[in-house]
Amino acid sequence: MPLPKIAALLCILIALPAFYGQGIQSLDSRAPRTAPLLPELQREIRADMAFLADDELHGRGSATRDEHIAALFAASQFQSLGLEPGGDNGTFLQKTLLPNPLPADIKQRLSKFEDTPRRETWNAIAILRGTTSPNEVILLTAHLDHLGISPAVNGDTIYNGADDDASGTTAVLALAHIFATGRHPSRTIVFALFGSEEIGGFGNRAFLAHPPVPLTSIITDLEFEMIGRPDPAVPAGTLWLTGFNRTNLGPELTRHGAHLVNDPHFGQHFFRRSDNYALALQGIIAQTISSFGLHKDYHQPSDKLRTIDFTHMTNAISSMVAPINWLSNTTWKPQWYLGRKPWHQAIIK
Ligand SMILES: [Zn+2]
Repeated sequence: MPLPKIAALLCILIALPAFYGQGIQSLDSRAPRTAPLLPELQREIRADMAFLADDELHGRGSATRDEHIAALFAASQFQSLGLEPGGDNGTFLQKTLLPNPLPADIKQRLSKFEDTPRRETWNAIAILRGTTSPNEVILLTAHLDHLGISPAVNGDTIYNGADDDASGTTAVLALAHIFATGRHPSRTIVFALFGSEEIGGFGNRAFLAHPPVPLTSIITDLEFEMIGRPDPAVPAGTLWLTGFNRTNLGPELTRHGAHLVNDPHFGQHFFRRSDNYALALQGIIAQTISSFGLHKDYHQPSDKLRTIDFTHMTNAISSMVAPINWLSNTTWKPQWYLGRKPWHQAIIK
């Protein structure tokens, strides 16, 4: 067994009983915490993925009823965990209208999609209030939407988006479950799932315009994007972090057990290609965790459940529990390296 796998196993064995086992095994808090934990986590991951990537959700098209249903699914889970609502009017949902008229390039792109009227998009947001430093916030994010019903490829019109980004959404839901049912952290954790990332980040713009916590209180945002399959470009059992050499977050999380390496696909500019970027442009340390290996199913109807490597995905999510737990309980704050903020255009690998 190669070293990263041993490390992963140790990390999981140490971390999961403390965070995952407390609430999930039994409603009886006196029940012994001896059930097999990774299979339990994998079962939950499979269940969430099976719903989000099902054909009946029609690929969760941006700003469609299907995206709204995905947001409701997440909101319902947040509510059942006893989290605090972070959306509109005491709910877990945040609704925002799309611009009218839509920018020409987006209108042109949507014209190839199904003709459902697109007027609004939905976020699902929940808050786990910190015990001793509630005004310091760790933000965990992903996007709910994908390309919906779009032009047929080999007769298939449903762009399920299992990897992109049902996998990230599932990661945020699993982490919400783990942290809500474990010992509550000293810092606040906000779980936010954005709508309409694929057509220009309208969900996260709404979040920035109406944040559930002051933006200045956000210590860091970790976006989860496409973690459903391993990336052959990085060592087995690792994930990559965009903007790895822009801040000291990646190295510090790695020191606390994360299996994170630099994004190997520098030419793809992934740091700028997800919801994290709009937050980073506000000065927030906001970076994306992924294991996207540039597979050919990206933005195709073939990004389906059958391509997901659930062992990889379960290990990926569980490997982030201990580092996020550390980050949620420390007073340490990440910093941008000198000259490496998002608006510094110098080439930063
Ligand atoms: Zn995505």
